[in-house]
Amino acid sequence: MDSYDVVVVGAGPAGSTAAWRAASAGAKVLLVDKAVFPRDKPCGDGLTPRATKLLADIGLEHQLERFHRVNRIRLFHGRRTREYPWPKREGFPTHGYVISRMRLDDMLVRHAAAAGALVSQGSHVIAPVIDDDVVTGVRVRSGGREEEIRSRIVIAADGASSVLGRAMGMVPNVGSPLGMAARALIASERPDDDALEVYTIRHHRGFALGYAWLFPLGNGLLNIGMAVHGTDPRWREVGLTDLMQLFLNRLPAEWRVPSLAEIRREGTLKAWRVPMGLAVWPPWSAGILAAGDAAGVAKPTTGGGISKAIQSGLISAEVALEALDTATGPRDLSTYEKRLEDTFGKVYETGRRYLRVMSSRVARRLLLTGPGIRLAARKMVGQADA
Ligand SMILES: Cc1cc2nc3c(=O)[nH]c(=O)nc-3n(C[C@H](O)[C@H](O)[C@H](O)COP(=O)(O)OP(=O)(O)OC[C@H]3O[C@@H](n4cnc5c(N)ncnc54)[C@H](O)[C@@H]3O)c2cc1C
Repeated sequence: MDSYDVVVVGAGPAGSTAAWRAASAGAKVLLVDKAVFPRDKPCGDGLTPRATKLLADIGLEHQLERFHRVNRIRLFHGRRTREYPWPKREGFPTHGYVISRMRLDDMLVRHAAAAGALVSQGSHVIAPVIDDDVVTGVRVRSGGREEEIRSRIVIAADGASSVLGRAMGMVPNVGSPLGMAARALIASERPDDDALEVYTIRHHRGFALGYAWLFPLGNGLLNIGMAVHGTDPRWREVGLTDLMQLFLNRLPAEWRVPSLAEIRREGTLKAWRVPMGLAVWPPWSAGILAAGDAAGVAKPTTGGGISKAIQSGLISAEVALEALDTATGPRDLSTYEKRLEDTFGKVYETGRRYLRVMSSRVARRLLLTGPGIRLAARKMVGQADA
């Protein structure tokens, strides 16, 4: 039976960076994913300056340069349009990128492998292995075979519907913010541009917050999508496809974007959920840490989760490495809670409060005015991770 210091389940941004960090420190690491890379993941593909900085910090700065660079956010609210260049913040770049997840995640898996992590693709983790209430490995199904892989610590980075999270009761807490988003990749005749475009959307039912986006991947290719989120459970009744149709209708005819029926036929229209605002709490159990969407770490105001997945992936690996060296070992991983709280806690508390307030129709009417939107945009852009 194979045995590792750290087994990381899920090779999205959270898992691959966790594997990279642990392997770079000399740990024996296995990174497991059910997919074979390169693989698609429904996402807006938008990387903020924070995500760009984190990727540069782990040594990928030069590899980013071949992708489409964005220097600003352009916000559309009603008939008004405003631009917000990414601000100058110490230690942060003043640009981001739009990179398809097919390419970003593939690059991250390779980076983890180059640091020494063993990568097992096409391997489906079906359950944790538990001994004396401590997770000591995972059960994996691969090519019709099932096997048990032992690990001193497991990092669950298996995304928003985490198998390991469900098995361990590490699921989003009731009432925690949750987003739903859909995206499509479309070819257009729109000239390439250096802005992430965000459109506020009003929807008929009025109990969710939402926005649409149009992110340029270069060469006329656009990532187009919409996100709705809220704390009022009725927001789930909002039809993302209907909203997508309304959004497509408002794009200029000369861009020659495909119709919704054509987009559907091409198969790039995909929706997925985004647990947000430290939704899974505590995000650990004896022998196991959750990172990325499996921990619900996306930003509660926007649902942006790539930079947060990377941050939590790095932190989870650091906590795992520390635990391997201490007397308590992997039984008590509570320092992870503190590290996440220190990193995200303050900003996320404000975000959760904002979502609660905005769940009220009256508050929305008062705040979703031109000045309210401008203030929120300036605050978000100012954090370099709108
Ligand atoms: C439509 C949409 C648009 C978005 N747009 C943006 C954006 O523009 N910018 C941004 O910052 N964030 C965006 N997000 C959020 C972002 O996509 C996520 O927060 C981010 O992908 C989380 O990364 P992760 O590594 O935690 O999980 P994931 O990227 O979901 O990776 C999880 C991995 O785990 C693997 N896995 C799952 N189950 C198993 C299993 N049982 N066994 C083995 N492997 C398994 C999967 O194959 C996958 O590779 C968007 C989300 C959606 C849904």
